[in-house]
Amino acid sequence: MNIHEYQAKSLLKKFGAPVSDGRVVLSADEAAEKAAELGGPLWVVKAQIHAGGRGKGHFKEPEAGEKGGVRLAKSVEEAAEEARRMLGHTLVTKQTGPAGKVVNRVYIEDGSGIERELYLAALVDRQTSRIAFVCSTEGGMDIEDVAAKTPEKILTFSIDPASGYSPFHGRRVAFALGLEGAQIKQCVKLVETLYRMFLESDMSMLEINPLIVTDKGDLKCLDAKIGFDDNALYRHPDIAEMRDETEEDPKELEASKYDLNYIALDGEIGCMVNGAGLAMATMDIIKL
Ligand code: ADP
Ligand code: MG
Repeated sequence: MNIHEYQAKSLLKKFGAPVSDGRVVLSADEAAEKAAELGGPLWVVKAQIHAGGRGKGHFKEPEAGEKGGVRLAKSVEEAAEEARRMLGHTLVTKQTGPAGKVVNRVYIEDGSGIERELYLAALVDRQTSRIAFVCSTEGGMDIEDVAAKTPEKILTFSIDPASGYSPFHGRRVAFALGLEGAQIKQCVKLVETLYRMFLESDMSMLEINPLIVTDKGDLKCLDAKIGFDDNALYRHPDIAEMRDETEEDPKELEASKYDLNYIALDGEIGCMVNGAGLAMATMDIIKL
């Protein structure tokens, strides 16, 4: 199960990781009210859909404007206007496919001064059967290009579950990210926090892109994407409650109510199977 950026950030905040102050809204009126509450002077208005690449995305409807799904605003009125433009319209990004996704919620957050944009993610590394941290100095909106063109700029460190997290893991990440001084301490604390969150909440993926160094020299999680292990959701009713069914395929949603593994594909094709291996073999056969 995936959650929205604003939900991921509330979880990060709960565990003590550094995030900006923000509010989720469903209407332009609410956006004005919440932007005023945040105080400014700079706001960022962010479309909440279960897909990345929002900054470089585009809207299908002309009334949504030329810009993508992450927009700067310099006044309360501008923040409300950008929210009004995005809400109810379809955002297309590299990750949504050509159909795009309708924006039903918008997150308004304090704008940050950015010195550097870094990449930090935690995932389950099936090869080593460990949780691994993946990091890069080349964070921001083009991490897929970095992976394709300069894979040596992406480093992976795994943590042995028998001995667990030690500060040297965090220092390794800090040095790989080229951090200095007080940032190293902040990074050690952040990696420890992310590892604890990952384990305690049964995540399958946690991606911070970008992790930034602010103009004041501090680390901050500016974007957050989290996926949870569905098989462990029963242990976390508070997390299961964050499910946004409007983000899921209605056919897959219906199937999941009967514990069926059903994957909807384009057009009139779907795949119903009783296990991942069989699913992959079925896909290969269909393709063949
Ligand atoms: P996506 O990955 O879906 O494009 P992000 O949340 O990563 O969305 O935002 C895209 C870019 O917008 C970031 O790389 C960053 O440069 C900028 N950005 C996002 N949030 C803020 C913020 N609160 N303050 C300043 N800039 C931001
Ligand atoms: Mg991002």
